[in-house]
Amino acid sequence: GEVSIIKVSEIVNQQIQKINSQRVTIHNDVEDQFEVVGVAEDATTIIQNLLTNAVKYNVENGEVWVSAKKDNSQWSLNVRDSGIGIPLSQQSRIFERFYRGDESRQRKIASGTGLGLAIVNEIVTKHNGRLQVKSQVGVGTSITLTLPL
Ligand code: ATP
Ligand code: MG
Repeated sequence: GEVSIIKVSEIVNQQIQKINSQRVTIHNDVEDQFEVVGVAEDATTIIQNLLTNAVKYNVENGEVWVSAKKDNSQWSLNVRDSGIGIPLSQQSRIFERFYRGDESRQRKIASGTGLGLAIVNEIVTKHNGRLQVKSQVGVGTSITLTLPL
């Protein structure tokens, strides 16, 4: 893909519409004027995977919050949800290819291949970024992606 100026909020809105969840509310807290230079397809892939997970591993009437911020050297995107959470013992493995948490495999919450976050990780690594996960079972999950500008 080609490098261009990306309006992050627009991509978030497009993905919210595409997911069109009836059971989870997604709040787009990214400012309209928030822009980054990058490959739009990569940004779309990242946002789509993080939002899909935040909805899929959520509870009835759950919520998702998306925000972004920027300083001189880096920008970050945060997707936080009120979902089922990820046990600490599994948190380090979720970016592996084909890894699916115990909960997703056993209870078959929703179908999946376990590739979504591996793809996100690949894109982020390629751009010298990093991914941080904070999660508590029964409370929710927060994933922050940080990329150099
Ligand atoms: P796919 O994305 O390929 O459809 P998947 O969602 O299972 O399948 P990933 O997106 O890579 O795969 O996520 C890996 C695992 O991490 C999931 O199976 C789930 O156990 C856990 N996980 C990811 N995001 C969340 C989240 N927001 N809340 C709770 N668990 C999550
Ligand atoms: Mg997924």
